[in-house]
Amino acid sequence: MTKRPDKHDPDTVGDWTWAVHGGNAPDPGTGALRRPLVMANSYLLDPDPSEMDWSNPGGLVYTRTSGANQLALETKLAALEGGTAAITFASGVAALHAVFFSRLRNGDHVVVSDVTYEAVWRLFTELLPERYDIEATFVDIADLEAVRAAIRPTTRLVHAETIANPTTKVADVAGLARIAHGHGALLTIDNTFTPPPLYRPLADGADLVVHSLTKYINGHGDAMGGAVIGAADLVDRVRSDSLVDIGGVISPFNAWLILRGSVTLPLRLRQHQANAELVAAFLRADPRIAFVAYPGLADHGQHDLATRQFAGRGYGGMLAFALDGDSALQNAFVAELRLITSAVSLGHDESLIVHVGPAGRGGSEHYPEAFRRYGHLRLSVGLEDAADLIADLAAALDAVC
Ligand SMILES: *Cc1c(COP(=O)(O)O)cnc(C)c1O
Repeated sequence: MTKRPDKHDPDTVGDWTWAVHGGNAPDPGTGALRRPLVMANSYLLDPDPSEMDWSNPGGLVYTRTSGANQLALETKLAALEGGTAAITFASGVAALHAVFFSRLRNGDHVVVSDVTYEAVWRLFTELLPERYDIEATFVDIADLEAVRAAIRPTTRLVHAETIANPTTKVADVAGLARIAHGHGALLTIDNTFTPPPLYRPLADGADLVVHSLTKYINGHGDAMGGAVIGAADLVDRVRSDSLVDIGGVISPFNAWLILRGSVTLPLRLRQHQANAELVAAFLRADPRIAFVAYPGLADHGQHDLATRQFAGRGYGGMLAFALDGDSALQNAFVAELRLITSAVSLGHDESLIVHVGPAGRGGSEHYPEAFRRYGHLRLSVGLEDAADLIADLAAALDAVC
């Protein structure tokens, strides 16, 4: 017997249906079909609030603990990632910091991928060690033996990105989860590059998933946000430690924008990926290009792992490459692009490119040899016509080579 689809019950519907309906409901006041933006920082209290737990009130009380639009977005994200709870934050970095702050104590040790988002690198090389005596070992996450060897009795956390920003190294989430859990540590995964339905780290054993909602989940380059998703007991702890008492709360308007943007997430991912595969193949075939890093290419170091782990659903829309030349040539190339915009951020509707020199990022000494030699151009492949993107890249190459 087929289950009757209920748009408010994610267990009865597919990813695309949930992306459309999750968190949305008609407004009971007006009958409007879209959940309205609720610009309020305070909500009616229960008749007897005298014994309320202010760190975990469990309802709508004050927008720093939860608000109507936050709650709708959290409901959608929790089920989308296959977790039982989610919390939203003002940015992806606020979400990452919230997890580390909530889970780690003075003297704890963490194992971190040697390629991570820049803020994570700085948190674990400077800020957390200097202030809280937390020690980090950076390892090549693709080498599970090295990860195992880095674990200590005091290791509380293993952290990696599903596909690392910017080198595109792929983490074996199930392998990392086995190692972390075998030593009583948690596995936290930044899944910003590969949001559902492309990949769900919780299903492979990750304990907490972090997203920069600023990127693919919003998808339109107009709002910032972050999220932490997982089992309710872990997520509630992060909420009470790191949202209520530190306060990096997302605004109702940004939550509203991201809920709306995420409606088309499955559709957009399909197009980002199709375009990225074509652009990567074009660059790969051009002798003026020194290297292309994209997990969808057969010569990528973790291509087989990516194919297995993402179960044929794709390889994301992010790639890195460089022209065979110096830093001035990379800059000249970017200056010749007419369609692709030079800007940071990623996962927007429009294609974005950023040139980073060989030593331009914290931790870049761990990047692959080609990244250290040429620097790299990180390309977020957008939703434009692939033929136009390729024509833009080809014209810029012809202009500078
Ligand atoms: C952008 C990004 C972040 C940080 O997110 P913000 O919303 O900019 O704070 C974290 N992790 C990854 C992989 C990112 O690309």
